Amino acid sequence: MNEYKLLGRTACSMAERAGDCGQADYAVNVGADLVTAELEVCKRGGLSVERTQVKYVSFSNIPIPHGCSARLGGVSDGPYASLNIGQSTDDAPSFVHENRQRLGAAVGVSPVSLLDMNHGTRVVRFDSLPHGLHKGDACITNVPGLPLMITTADCVPLIMYDGVHGAIGLTHAGWRGTAAKICQYTLKALRDNYGTDAADVQVAVGPSIGPCCFEVGAEVAEVFAAVFPAQKSWLIAGDMLKARQEMLQNQKKNVNENKKYFVNLWRANVLALLEAGVLPANIRLSGLCSMCHSGLFYSYRRDKRVTGRIATLAMLPS
Ligand SMILES: [Zn+2]
Repeated sequence: MNEYKLLGRTACSMAERAGDCGQADYAVNVGADLVTAELEVCKRGGLSVERTQVKYVSFSNIPIPHGCSARLGGVSDGPYASLNIGQSTDDAPSFVHENRQRLGAAVGVSPVSLLDMNHGTRVVRFDSLPHGLHKGDACITNVPGLPLMITTADCVPLIMYDGVHGAIGLTHAGWRGTAAKICQYTLKALRDNYGTDAADVQVAVGPSIGPCCFEVGAEVAEVFAAVFPAQKSWLIAGDMLKARQEMLQNQKKNVNENKKYFVNLWRANVLALLEAGVLPANIRLSGLCSMCHSGLFYSYRRDKRVTGRIATLAMLPS
């Protein structure tokens, strides 16, 4: 058994990098901290000591132990280098275990698999650590000391914190979950279980594929146009209307099949949060695109599916 000692943490603001993905026009807060945790790993009863730096993203509006892991400071190699948290990958289980130990020591929240995620809208309440995985894409708890975790690699992770009722929620929002407004299901579950008022909830939107990189075909763009009709020009880059007109004029379906659009999943989640009563001042976006930042994050799309997973962790202090 290795032992892990946290020697210290330093944080640097990533706010200036938020401009990378062109979302300066948000009405919500943009920017996060990149925390560097200095760890000492004592192996085999102290026979060997290694130092490493584990990095993770944290948010100034979430005042409890939490973080989204970066890919630095772990032991995995190849496409999983180096701090892969995903057990569902082809990475060596012993490496994933070691990475989880390191991340847990760095953040102060143990990475524990809870959910078997399938891009649905099911929210699972945890009152204790489960035996085995529960099907769902979001989880909530009000139990101090109970760690919550979701894993992603491009999909949007959301952290929700209700300081009034002492409750937290994590949400995994891929494009399907985003279009289904899964964040509203999480807010509803927090309200139904703990009495949470959306106006009291702080939300952090973690590293995930940005509007710069989330290129989709017309089918996906049209799903978002249908879900957010009034805001579609704000969510979708690309001339969909023109493509649709061309298609109708030509009576050929394939005319717009090659047209590409860029959907802004961050904005779509923000819209759904605002619609449910979350205050703009209580929302903070990392503004960090997982696909652009290859040195920091895993990206399912960039790495053509063979990649690690980012962990998003949160825990109410005990
Ligand atoms: Zn990008």
